[in-house]
Amino acid sequence: MTAIDTGLQELKRQHPEWEPWLAVVEEVLRETGDPQWDALVPTRTEAQRIKVPLLAETTIQIEEAVISGLLKQLLQTACRNGTSKMATLEPVARADVDSLMLFKASLCRDDDRVKDIATALGADPEALQAVVALVPLPFLHACNRRWTRSIDISWMEGYCPLCGAWPALGEIRGIERNRYFRCGRCGGEWRAHCLFCTYCGMTDHEQLVTLVPEQTGAGRMIEACKRCLGYVKTFTTLQGSVPAKVILDDLASVDLDVAAVEQGYKRPQGAGYALDLTIIGNGTK
Ligand SMILES: [Zn+2]
Ligand SMILES: [Zn+2]
Repeated sequence: MTAIDTGLQELKRQHPEWEPWLAVVEEVLRETGDPQWDALVPTRTEAQRIKVPLLAETTIQIEEAVISGLLKQLLQTACRNGTSKMATLEPVARADVDSLMLFKASLCRDDDRVKDIATALGADPEALQAVVALVPLPFLHACNRRWTRSIDISWMEGYCPLCGAWPALGEIRGIERNRYFRCGRCGGEWRAHCLFCTYCGMTDHEQLVTLVPEQTGAGRMIEACKRCLGYVKTFTTLQGSVPAKVILDDLASVDLDVAAVEQGYKRPQGAGYALDLTIIGNGTK
């Protein structure tokens, strides 16, 4: 049994009410391992530029049918198994939506664009946002497989050096206690620096706090900034999770999100870096 299967089973056991949503997550995680996505990774030849994620300003050529197929599949699973909110996605699953536009909106975290489409089709905006956020995962995981050695090892930014997202969580690994951030989209990792806030760069230690909620268990904490009110969940672990498990680790620690929000902290919305992508669709739907 893989780490993904174990992670999913554990989540279903702890949160049986999440089962409809976990069915959608499971489907996209299976897809992330499919080698067909590797052929879609843009070609890169130059070294990484300072502060610029590898995916930024690239041109992605993609079969529209591949994206529309995945989008439909995820929407149908969400409608079939889902809550009443997820059932509102039915008209989107049936409509002839511009799947490449949604793919780009999701990659660039253009949340307003997704919301507008949901409203126009009478779907719940949050539910559509949640499903659409998963659509680029198989593509991004393929980019991570291909580009992981191209990431600048001296990367100092708070956002993902591959896809520009803010970290989903942090890992403090092994006896050396090396710190890494993990990306919930591409599954990538980069070295974390605990001397400043990952979001606003605050260096005043009086303003950087560590919260350990009661009953949270050993090695789990929230690192937060009093200036920008951003936070990162951080876990002590022997070794880092495999890329596809990061999204499950994030879901499994929702108690820490609840505790952080109760204390007035929040995860930043939108992208850490504006990617400025060009997407060219090949073929028919
Ligand atoms: Zn990433
Ligand atoms: Zn901050």
